[in-house]
Amino acid sequence: MIRKGIDYIKSIKENHPVVFYEGEIVKDITEHPAFKIPISTVAKYYDLHWEEQYKEYLRVYNPDVGEETSISFLRPRNKRDLAKLRDGLTKIYDFYRGFFGRSPDYLNVWTTVFYAHAEDYFGKHFGSKMMENAIEIYKEATRKDLFYTHAIVAPMYDRSRPPSQWEDPYIQIGIVEERPEGVIVRGAAMISTAGPYAEMLWYLPNIRRDSDPRYAIYFSIPTTTKGVKFLARRGFQPREGGEFEYPISSRFEESDAILVLDNVLVPWDRIIFYKKPDLIEDLMWHTVNLRGWFNWHFVIQHYSRLKFLAGLAISIAEAAGISGFINVQEKIGEILIYVALNEAALYASVEKAEELPNITRPDPYISIAASHFNMKAVPRANEILRLISAGSSIPIPAGIKDFENPEERKLLDKYMAMKGLNALERVKLFNLLWDVIGSESGMRYEQYDRFSRGDPTIRWAQTYTEVFRDRKHEFVKLVREILDQMPNPKA
Ligand SMILES: Cc1cc2nc3c(=O)[nH]c(=O)nc-3n(C[C@H](O)[C@H](O)[C@H](O)COP(=O)(O)OP(=O)(O)OC[C@H]3O[C@@H](n4cnc5c(N)ncnc54)[C@H](O)[C@@H]3O)c2cc1C
Repeated sequence: MIRKGIDYIKSIKENHPVVFYEGEIVKDITEHPAFKIPISTVAKYYDLHWEEQYKEYLRVYNPDVGEETSISFLRPRNKRDLAKLRDGLTKIYDFYRGFFGRSPDYLNVWTTVFYAHAEDYFGKHFGSKMMENAIEIYKEATRKDLFYTHAIVAPMYDRSRPPSQWEDPYIQIGIVEERPEGVIVRGAAMISTAGPYAEMLWYLPNIRRDSDPRYAIYFSIPTTTKGVKFLARRGFQPREGGEFEYPISSRFEESDAILVLDNVLVPWDRIIFYKKPDLIEDLMWHTVNLRGWFNWHFVIQHYSRLKFLAGLAISIAEAAGISGFINVQEKIGEILIYVALNEAALYASVEKAEELPNITRPDPYISIAASHFNMKAVPRANEILRLISAGSSIPIPAGIKDFENPEERKLLDKYMAMKGLNALERVKLFNLLWDVIGSESGMRYEQYDRFSRGDPTIRWAQTYTEVFRDRKHEFVKLVREILDQMPNPKA
């Protein structure tokens, strides 16, 4: 099934999770100012599937469920399918300009990947029940076109010790009790983007930080399950009518929240991974290669973002008469190099995809390396925008009303214009710029760009210690051969 935006809004209006905001439980999430924008953007995501120019990219006949679904639920069987998935997702993120990374498609891909490995991973290691769970969860998600959030990371209580050694071992979500109908879990996760307006939750902890089996549980439940609570952060939405001043926040503001599971009963048929922490390596890096998949998705998001940032840099440079300076050209060239590298990574990851019997997946070396690269490349592109716009990014008139005062308008038309832009166009462009490099929403996105796949230092190091572990001999051999050919001293 493919829903329309209105179906999603109706669903979340009638039945949304417990969300705390400024000391109160939100009554109608669809009417709350902190959540209205992301809810309308999620609705737009569903509507894109019905729009003429997007339809052919976003809708697909899905043989796994025997009906049309969103492309994001397609289990690619060959490179052609994978290319289709890449192109469909790129269409979505071009629409978002690379923002709104926790759009429904993000976790649809995870759900599909779990489904594809229901037998060779979940069934093999956890038995037929959990295999069926992975299958049923996928079928339900596609049948109802559900919107998932996810949570992975334990709260930042004390990173120097594993959560099982914290004063309360149930700060991180853990299994408290097993019952015939399911397991009781308690604890919190540091962040769940979109949690307050999502219908479903995937909880998939990063148990590499602690091998205590009480934490080793992956499950999917409705966000409305008794005991699920979201403590939402302050909304970064602009004031009512702020679309002129905040063109990005007013379109793509996402909401983040702390997830609390307060003695939640997770039924057995919603669990796909249980109490075998040693198997996480295989899930993340090998059989399922979840890391490869979600990093690939990030490359798509950031490819769209970098194109947008390049467009912003070029527009500013050309309007301000600075595009002829070599230092400005070098900086814009740098962003364009990032664009080209991402484009190459996305094409190469499909060209070199692994065609497994149950799924075709993007080349993990390329996907992970490119995504790790973007943890630094995207913030660097923002920095370039700051450098080339310099002080002119700051003194922008307060709002649209400045253009409505005839006396002020005259002054603005004269003194806010740029060589290549009249005053109104220039202010629009610079409001757009500020919403990327300076506003709360822009800053939140920069944190997201750096940290959403984990800490960049650790991830870059892992490129050496984990990602290329099996391939590093290939490179060392190139050195070894020359070393072996070099003459040795006589005796
Ligand atoms: C805007 C935003 C949205 C997000 N949305 C989601 C979401 O929807 N769901 C979700 O699950 N997660 C989400 N994430 C969380 C993301 O997964 C984490 O931020 C990420 O995994 C890094 O964890 P951390 O922030 O706890 O930092 P840590 O990994 O704790 O790192 C903090 C600092 O300590 C250092 N450090 C920590 N451990 C070590 C170590 N062992 N050795 C050396 N240095 C160390 C790091 O270098 C870093 O400087 C989101 C993050 C952001 C910023």
